[in-house]
Amino acid sequence: MKTLGETILSVRNLSTVFDTEYGVVKAVDGVSFDLRRGETLGIVGESGSGKSVTNLSLLRLVPEPPGRIASGEILFKGRNLLEGDEEDMRLVRGSNISMIFQDPMTSLNPLLRVSLQIAEALQLHHGLDRKAAERKAVELLTSIGIPDAETRAYEYPHQYSGGMRQRAMIAMAISCGPDILIADEPTTALDVTIQAQILELIKSLSAEKTMSVIMITHDLGVVAGICDTICVMYAGRIVEKAPVDELFADPRHPYTRGLLDSVPRVDLAGGRRRLYSIPGSPPDLVDLPPGCPFRPRCDKAMEICGQKAPPEVGFEDRTVVCWLHAQEGKIS
Ligand code: SF4
Repeated sequence: MKTLGETILSVRNLSTVFDTEYGVVKAVDGVSFDLRRGETLGIVGESGSGKSVTNLSLLRLVPEPPGRIASGEILFKGRNLLEGDEEDMRLVRGSNISMIFQDPMTSLNPLLRVSLQIAEALQLHHGLDRKAAERKAVELLTSIGIPDAETRAYEYPHQYSGGMRQRAMIAMAISCGPDILIADEPTTALDVTIQAQILELIKSLSAEKTMSVIMITHDLGVVAGICDTICVMYAGRIVEKAPVDELFADPRHPYTRGLLDSVPRVDLAGGRRRLYSIPGSPPDLVDLPPGCPFRPRCDKAMEICGQKAPPEVGFEDRTVVCWLHAQEGKIS
């Protein structure tokens, strides 16, 4: 089992809202989690569950207006990132916490050679001159498996394949040796073979550099092989948090169970004919139902579920927010 280091990020009661003409959208609603050095944390949920907004909030990249971080703390190495000014955040982004996105084509500048785009962060954060920064860019591209990097570094993003562009984004993200890499659906736009290679690359970089990773995905198959801990999000809240093996072996929240049942399993071939699909759709975040937001879709709902918000129930190393387990663990 992997040995994890000290806690480097503590998110406490984070709430991020969007002011819209229809009302206040609570995209992230009281989210708390810790991230330890070297840990890979998966944040899983359907579209609109709040996973991407949570991570944009960590870097204070939520567009204001209409968005705003309404409350909470983001403690990075003990310092609350919500208290610093924009200049403080500019130094944190890329240098301490960096991010890669789903579609590198929209994140890479089509008019700049790849080497220059990687060099930019090295010039800004490490004070290298342009030549030295570009040399370092070539080294980085070589280290993440770009063939013939000496030549290819000086090409434009459109000359790269999808997998190479994602590798270039990763090179850019790790160029300054961040403590945390946030990967937002990093493999969704790639075919399965390249997807596996990119996940393997992130995993090996995390181990080699003792870098923590936050992996955002809607795909439980992605988190199974790479994450240590999983947070399942629904309607802007974390509804279950557990070590990856425990979550797969014994999912406790009905939503987690539904997500797992909707993943194709080769080991069950012939045993299950149809994939499960969670009935209904995610709730309107402007007008959540009373009690548990998952109640309209839950096949285990009880009377109390429509009356009171479920408590967070803590077990030894996991939590679940559901009335079904209120008698079993410690209510916080
Ligand atoms: Fe289902 Fe009730 Fe648990 Fe919500 S609290 S997930 S409605 S059983």
